[in-house]
Amino acid sequence: MVIKTNTSYRYKRLEETLSRLSKEECQIIAGGTDVMVQHKSPRGTPAKFDKPIVFIDQLKELKQVYKMNHDIHIGACCTYSEMMKHPLIPGILKKAIKEIAAPAIRNRGTIGGNICNASPAGDTLPLLYIYNAKVRLVSAKGERMIEIQDFIQGPRKVNRLNDEIVREIILPEVHEDLTHFVFEKVANRRADAIAKISFAGLLRRDEGRISDARFAFGAVGPTIVRSMDIEKKLLSAAFPLDNKFIDGIVADFECLLKPIDDGRSTAVYRKTVALHLLRHFLEMY
Ligand SMILES: Cc1cc2nc3c(=O)[nH]c(=O)nc-3n(C[C@H](O)[C@H](O)[C@H](O)COP(=O)(O)OP(=O)(O)OC[C@H]3O[C@@H](n4cnc5c(N)ncnc54)[C@H](O)[C@@H]3O)c2cc1C
Repeated sequence: MVIKTNTSYRYKRLEETLSRLSKEECQIIAGGTDVMVQHKSPRGTPAKFDKPIVFIDQLKELKQVYKMNHDIHIGACCTYSEMMKHPLIPGILKKAIKEIAAPAIRNRGTIGGNICNASPAGDTLPLLYIYNAKVRLVSAKGERMIEIQDFIQGPRKVNRLNDEIVREIILPEVHEDLTHFVFEKVANRRADAIAKISFAGLLRRDEGRISDARFAFGAVGPTIVRSMDIEKKLLSAAFPLDNKFIDGIVADFECLLKPIDDGRSTAVYRKTVALHLLRHFLEMY
């Protein structure tokens, strides 16, 4: 029996890869930890794709981590294991990465893949939202930059043209001192489990008043939920926040979060836990 396999490309340089993408639509594969699950095939047979495959995990241009003008640039093909070892990756992002899957997946899975797969349960996403991360896309024609919340449009739906590759993710400067970050993932166990609910929070205080507040919830809607309008209500609030004020913020989010029942959890559980995590964060910091 002859098994027909897909055409695949694996170039040494980003430029050649972009040139290929400008000529034909391809299935991009970075670590393949989402793509291969989505293209499962019976044991012993190769996975079938309806387009040629282009591998990008070997591209050095997509693996750099550096700081420029106080912003941290993270190459889209950096694996979780590589990010864990890099001194420029913020500690709170490392905390989230530690809870992703198991070492084998962390050795293959990339931050770019997590963003492009755009699952609302993706573990890096709530933190990338509160960092106001930007996504830098490149194609043979040029490049563009887009805010993460405009890039991600729904599960497996992102604002990317067929000839574009995500080159890097940029974390604009955050004054880490005096800023409290939290990332909480609730799942069946501490690692190797997909989130039932996740929460990221950032609070900064200046002279007893809140000067920056950001919150993002994962797995409570088709995309990560963040609300600038609610966050604005916290600005200039005196610290510690009084209970009535906290009740108001929690009630605002209660109206906004729209989780669903699925195999992993129930809508009621997700909403209850999400609001508890928010309340706890507001009371603690
Ligand atoms: C057993 C197992 C456990 C897992 N556990 C977790 C978990 O705990 N938390 C979690 O968040 N995820 C988990 N995942 C999902 C997965 O590992 C992550 O989403 C990972 O970050 C995907 O990265 P990747 O490089 O493997 O993506 P790939 O599978 O290579 O790609 C995913 C999608 O992104 C596109 N893509 C990738 N890179 C680029 C790029 N640079 N430019 C344009 N498009 C691109 C691909 O075309 C594809 O559509 C798990 C997966 C498995 C199999």
